[in-house]
Amino acid sequence: MSEQDTLFSKIIRREIPADIVYEDDMALAFKDINPQAPVHILVIPKKPIPRLADAVPEDHSLMGHLLLTAKRVAQEAGLENGYRVVINNGAEAGQTVFHLHLHILGGRQMQWPPG
Ligand code: 5GP
Repeated sequence: MSEQDTLFSKIIRREIPADIVYEDDMALAFKDINPQAPVHILVIPKKPIPRLADAVPEDHSLMGHLLLTAKRVAQEAGLENGYRVVINNGAEAGQTVFHLHLHILGGRQMQWPPG
């Protein structure tokens, strides 16, 4: 497994199963295996960018696409009362899988500040 070949690359390649809710040529969305809210979906780029901090200017439109995919997936999940989109960047932020992902969390009242 190369440094960039994480669990999420295996999900993209269908080498490990996931409950996939959306896919296109640039992005994939699937349910988190350990949900922290009634709806907890991860949106990832197919390009293996480890962290947000590793994104480069050429990723500009991909980054926009991920946010619009998050919006679409949240809408399709019925989160009309609100939802939270989270990116954990790096170990101190709690990132555990080093393939960029947006958490979409919803279906309950969120608190602020986050832990
Ligand atoms: P992070 O802590 O890196 O921001 O988030 C990683 C997320 O990936 C966690 O919420 C964790 O539950 C989820 N996760 C880890 N391994 C798997 C897996 O094999 N399948 C799925 N669907 N989610 C996973």
